[in-house]
Amino acid sequence: MPPVIDPDDDIPEDEDEDFEVEEEIAEGEHCPICDSPEGECEHLLAAIDRTYSEIESGAIVAYERTILDMIERLVAKGPDALKAAGAGHALVQAATLVEADVEGGMSMGDAVSTNFPHLIEALCSTLEEDGDVTVTEGEVDEGTDESWSYVNLWTEDAEGAVERLIDRLQGLLDELE
Ligand SMILES: [Zn+2]
Repeated sequence: MPPVIDPDDDIPEDEDEDFEVEEEIAEGEHCPICDSPEGECEHLLAAIDRTYSEIESGAIVAYERTILDMIERLVAKGPDALKAAGAGHALVQAATLVEADVEGGMSMGDAVSTNFPHLIEALCSTLEEDGDVTVTEGEVDEGTDESWSYVNLWTEDAEGAVERLIDRLQGLLDELE
Protein backbone atom coordinates (compact mmCIF):
# COMPACT_ATOMS: atom_id res chain seq x y z
CA MET A 1 0.00 0.00 0.00
CA PRO A 2 1.44 3.42 -0.92
CA PRO A 3 2.09 5.81 1.98
CA VAL A 4 -0.69 8.28 2.63
CA ILE A 5 0.47 11.77 1.71
CA ASP A 6 -1.31 14.73 3.21
CA PRO A 7 -1.05 17.48 0.56
CA ASP A 8 -1.08 20.19 3.21
CA ASP A 9 2.00 18.81 4.87
CA ASP A 10 4.30 17.05 2.44
CA ILE A 11 7.31 17.54 4.69
CA PRO A 12 6.70 16.07 8.13
CA GLU A 13 7.29 18.52 10.96
CA ASP A 14 10.31 16.80 12.49
CA GLU A 15 12.06 16.41 9.12
CA ASP A 16 11.60 20.11 8.48
CA GLU A 17 13.44 20.88 11.70
CA ASP A 18 16.30 18.61 10.69
CA PHE A 19 16.84 20.66 7.53
CA GLU A 20 17.16 23.82 9.57
CA VAL A 21 19.71 22.24 11.88
CA GLU A 22 21.82 21.03 8.95
CA GLU A 23 21.80 24.49 7.44
CA GLU A 24 22.96 26.07 10.66
CA ILE A 25 25.88 23.69 10.88
CA ALA A 26 26.86 24.31 7.27
CA GLU A 27 26.76 28.08 7.68
CA GLY A 28 28.39 28.04 11.05
CA GLU A 29 31.91 27.24 10.00
CA HIS A 30 34.51 28.46 12.46
CA CYS A 31 37.86 30.01 11.72
CA PRO A 32 40.56 27.31 12.02
CA ILE A 33 42.99 29.93 13.34
CA CYS A 34 41.05 31.67 16.13
CA ASP A 35 37.80 29.67 16.23
CA SER A 36 35.59 32.73 15.66
CA PRO A 37 32.40 32.16 13.69
CA GLU A 38 32.91 32.80 9.96
CA GLY A 39 32.81 36.50 9.17
CA GLU A 40 33.78 37.66 12.64
CA CYS A 41 37.55 37.72 12.35
CA GLU A 42 40.21 38.96 9.96
CA HIS A 43 41.54 35.55 8.95
CA LEU A 44 39.20 34.74 6.09
CA LEU A 45 41.16 35.24 2.90
CA ALA A 46 38.49 34.05 0.50
CA ALA A 47 35.18 32.25 0.71
CA ILE A 48 34.44 30.82 -2.70
CA ASP A 49 31.26 29.25 -3.97
CA ARG A 50 32.63 26.51 -6.22
CA THR A 51 29.31 25.59 -7.76
CA TYR A 52 28.63 29.09 -9.06
CA SER A 53 32.28 30.21 -9.21
CA GLU A 54 31.66 33.25 -7.06
CA ILE A 55 33.84 34.93 -4.51
CA GLU A 56 31.47 35.37 -1.58
CA SER A 57 33.55 37.08 1.07
CA GLY A 58 36.96 37.41 2.64
CA ALA A 59 39.79 39.93 2.44
CA ILE A 60 40.01 39.33 -1.31
CA VAL A 61 36.55 40.75 -1.99
CA ALA A 62 37.71 44.38 -1.88
CA TYR A 63 40.19 43.63 -4.69
CA GLU A 64 38.09 41.08 -6.54
CA ARG A 65 37.71 43.01 -9.79
CA THR A 66 41.40 43.99 -9.95
CA ILE A 67 42.51 40.42 -9.30
CA LEU A 68 40.09 38.83 -11.77
CA ASP A 69 41.10 41.37 -14.44
CA MET A 70 44.73 40.42 -13.92
CA ILE A 71 43.99 36.70 -14.13
CA GLU A 72 41.94 37.23 -17.30
CA ARG A 73 44.78 39.19 -18.89
CA LEU A 74 47.27 36.50 -17.86
CA VAL A 75 45.38 33.50 -19.22
CA ALA A 76 44.98 35.36 -22.53
CA LYS A 77 48.80 35.29 -22.86
CA GLY A 78 48.70 31.54 -23.46
CA PRO A 79 50.08 28.61 -21.47
CA ASP A 80 53.59 28.63 -22.96
CA ALA A 81 54.21 32.27 -22.12
CA LEU A 82 52.84 31.75 -18.60
CA LYS A 83 55.00 28.69 -18.03
CA ALA A 84 58.07 30.58 -19.21
CA ALA A 85 57.25 33.43 -16.83
CA GLY A 86 57.04 30.99 -13.91
CA ALA A 87 53.28 30.91 -13.36
CA GLY A 88 51.79 28.13 -11.25
CA HIS A 89 50.33 24.96 -12.69
CA ALA A 90 46.65 25.91 -12.24
CA LEU A 91 47.10 29.21 -14.08
CA VAL A 92 48.90 27.44 -16.95
CA GLN A 93 46.11 24.84 -16.99
CA ALA A 94 43.40 27.54 -17.23
CA ALA A 95 45.33 29.22 -20.06
CA THR A 96 45.58 25.87 -21.88
CA LEU A 97 41.78 25.50 -21.80
CA VAL A 98 41.25 29.09 -22.96
CA GLU A 99 43.74 28.60 -25.79
CA ALA A 100 42.00 25.40 -26.93
CA ASP A 101 38.65 27.19 -27.11
CA VAL A 102 40.17 30.09 -29.04
CA GLU A 103 41.74 27.62 -31.47
CA GLY A 104 38.28 26.06 -31.79
CA GLY A 105 36.97 29.39 -33.07
CA MET A 106 35.80 31.14 -29.90
CA SER A 107 36.60 34.78 -29.27
CA MET A 108 39.07 35.41 -26.44
CA GLY A 109 36.32 37.06 -24.38
CA ASP A 110 33.99 34.08 -24.76
CA ALA A 111 36.79 31.60 -24.06
CA VAL A 112 37.68 33.43 -20.87
CA SER A 113 34.08 33.53 -19.63
CA THR A 114 33.45 29.88 -20.59
CA ASN A 115 36.48 28.87 -18.55
CA PHE A 116 35.74 31.18 -15.63
CA PRO A 117 35.43 28.26 -13.14
CA HIS A 118 39.01 27.29 -14.04
CA LEU A 119 40.13 30.87 -13.48
CA ILE A 120 38.60 30.71 -10.01
CA GLU A 121 40.37 27.40 -9.34
CA ALA A 122 43.62 28.98 -10.52
CA LEU A 123 42.99 31.85 -8.11
CA CYS A 124 42.50 29.38 -5.22
CA SER A 125 45.67 27.49 -6.08
CA THR A 126 47.70 30.68 -6.39
CA LEU A 127 46.50 31.77 -2.96
CA GLU A 128 47.32 28.34 -1.49
CA GLU A 129 50.83 28.54 -2.96
CA ASP A 130 51.38 31.64 -0.82
CA GLY A 131 52.16 29.30 2.04
CA ASP A 132 50.43 29.34 5.36
CA VAL A 133 46.87 28.94 4.08
CA THR A 134 44.35 26.60 5.70
CA VAL A 135 41.65 25.30 3.40
CA THR A 136 38.24 24.22 4.63
CA GLU A 137 35.69 22.95 2.20
CA GLY A 138 32.31 21.41 2.20
CA GLU A 139 28.94 21.06 0.67
CA VAL A 140 25.80 22.92 1.62
CA ASP A 141 22.72 20.85 1.05
CA GLU A 142 19.57 22.83 1.61
CA GLY A 143 17.39 19.77 1.31
CA THR A 144 16.36 20.49 -2.28
CA ASP A 145 18.33 20.27 -5.53
CA GLU A 146 20.06 23.44 -4.40
CA SER A 147 23.22 21.92 -3.05
CA TRP A 148 26.48 23.73 -3.66
CA SER A 149 30.06 23.32 -2.61
CA TYR A 150 32.34 25.92 -1.17
CA VAL A 151 35.95 26.37 -0.27
CA ASN A 152 37.20 28.77 2.39
CA LEU A 153 40.82 29.88 2.57
CA TRP A 154 42.10 31.16 5.90
CA THR A 155 45.40 32.68 6.83
CA GLU A 156 46.97 34.61 9.70
CA ASP A 157 47.59 37.72 7.60
CA ALA A 158 44.80 37.77 5.02
CA GLU A 159 45.38 41.39 3.93
CA GLY A 160 49.07 40.62 3.40
CA ALA A 161 48.26 37.50 1.39
CA VAL A 162 46.00 39.54 -0.90
CA GLU A 163 48.78 42.11 -1.39
CA ARG A 164 51.27 39.35 -2.19
CA LEU A 165 48.83 37.83 -4.69
CA ILE A 166 48.43 41.16 -6.49
CA ASP A 167 52.23 41.64 -6.51
CA ARG A 168 52.71 38.17 -7.89
CA LEU A 169 50.12 38.59 -10.67
CA GLN A 170 51.50 42.05 -11.47
CA GLY A 171 55.02 40.57 -11.67
CA LEU A 172 53.81 38.01 -14.21
CA LEU A 173 52.01 40.70 -16.22
CA ASP A 174 55.12 42.93 -16.21
CA GLU A 175 57.09 40.06 -17.65
CA LEU A 176 54.51 39.32 -20.34
CA GLU A 177 53.17 42.71 -21.41
ZN1 LIG B 1 40.06 33.91 12.82
